Amino acid sequence: MSLTSLPKAELHLHIEGTMEPELVFELAARNHVTLPFADVEDLRDRYVFADLQSFLNLYYAAMDVLRTADDFTDLARAYLDRAYDQGVRHVEMFFDPQPHMDRGVPIEAVIDGLRAALDEVEQADRMSGGLILCFLRDRGPDEATAVLAVASSRLGSLLGVGLDSAEVGYPPGAFRDAYAQARDLGLHTVAHAGEEGPPAYVWEALDVLGVERIDHGIRSMEDPELVARLRRDRIPLTVCPLSNVRLGAVERLDLHPLARMLDEGLMVTVNSDDPAYFGGYVSDNYEACARELDLDHNQLSLLAQNSVNASFAPAERKATLLAEIDAWAEPAAAQPQRPAGAAPALRLLLIGPPGSGKGTQGKRLAERYSVEHIAAGDLLRHEVEAQSDIGRRASDAMKRGELVPDDLVFELVMPKVIAAGKANGYVLDGFPRSVSQAEEGRPIAEENGVAVTMAVRLDAIPDELMPRLLARAQSEGRIDDTPDVIRARLEVFNEEVEPLLDFYRARGLLVTIDASGSPDDVWAQLQAAVESS
Ligand SMILES: [Zn+2]
Repeated sequence: MSLTSLPKAELHLHIEGTMEPELVFELAARNHVTLPFADVEDLRDRYVFADLQSFLNLYYAAMDVLRTADDFTDLARAYLDRAYDQGVRHVEMFFDPQPHMDRGVPIEAVIDGLRAALDEVEQADRMSGGLILCFLRDRGPDEATAVLAVASSRLGSLLGVGLDSAEVGYPPGAFRDAYAQARDLGLHTVAHAGEEGPPAYVWEALDVLGVERIDHGIRSMEDPELVARLRRDRIPLTVCPLSNVRLGAVERLDLHPLARMLDEGLMVTVNSDDPAYFGGYVSDNYEACARELDLDHNQLSLLAQNSVNASFAPAERKATLLAEIDAWAEPAAAQPQRPAGAAPALRLLLIGPPGSGKGTQGKRLAERYSVEHIAAGDLLRHEVEAQSDIGRRASDAMKRGELVPDDLVFELVMPKVIAAGKANGYVLDGFPRSVSQAEEGRPIAEENGVAVTMAVRLDAIPDELMPRLLARAQSEGRIDDTPDVIRARLEVFNEEVEPLLDFYRARGLLVTIDASGSPDDVWAQLQAAVESS
């Protein structure tokens, strides 16, 4: 079973542990570092470990190739690409500044480099994420407070602090001061505990360090009182099943405590830890557990929900991701059956920039297929003119120079979509205009059997639209609409519409039509697309 389509958050991921052998050699060449490995294959062959320490030895040897901010950006970018393909939509990434600082790499280069890659995916609306600075527990508490002091120059780029590396013999309580200081700085706190170390370390992480999450924590299962505490306080545990097997913390995956932890009502999540070294990225972990531990559909979606709820993402982001998980968990409701021989209803959404001819084409489609043309902009204008309750609220927002609120548009348009959908069908224009509207509306439409069956994007580059928009501005006397103003407006449109296109693309409903030609040319393509659907 592939679980890459299940949206999820990854909360236990060491970015240095995502370095595939190919990248190690690429960066070594770039930075003129001589590696103690013959080639990529030799390095890959060494990815077999007896325990945590034997892994750490190789891990630190390989990260020697990371020298500049760009190296860190490349590293994170490679991980984020893979993670996105694995269904990760939010990531809280660990990094270990100390070994980099040992090599003379400034902590700012590490943080800025990693953050740059996260910024890229956030700006592209692919994923959200943050950085968690980890202290190496075997290097002691004094270094930890010193690292934190240096890192405070980049406080705004950090989400929290964590504690990792060799566990046994280094109880977490020693790091009390560093954790208190981190909390004072407004940082979240997590710590590795109970991977190889005893349940007492988990108690200490909770009671002495006051952490919000426990990383690993599988040995908590040996202590029923601790299990009760974790359950009562809903403390998330970021479990890494393939890593546990690879490092010998658990003998075989079918013996892994994950399923029992779920049965105990613990807030467990599944993560990849150091995926380049441990035989799988996060979805591979989900899939292996589903297979070896017999997890069912509900347990898998619960794991994904836990990952989002246990994250430090803002509430709004969590809501978006939880809705995506719901959509995965409950496949689209069956569409109502039409009588045999009846033409299939047209329920089409048109998406296109100003000047793409959306209004004209929408009207033509509605006439040709005898369905209703629902143009959100026209409906709003009508309500404003009629000074209805919705109209007054809309014009209040516009007077304040704001966009008409999403919920208002929703309230206005959604009933019309349902009514038209239940009659012959509709062509929608200007609604949904955002992913949140689409996410809110789609389940309701599906329940009523009237969901959009086809989203058509009228695509044209600004240069092709410019002459039309300039002519329109002139004929309407809008002298402020200079080419620069129009171009900026088109760029904003393109940026804002991309997530909405993704929403329909992900559901296999998106069709793109070249809208740079004449209206008749566009119409011909539209008709062909509708007829062949
Ligand atoms: Zn870890």
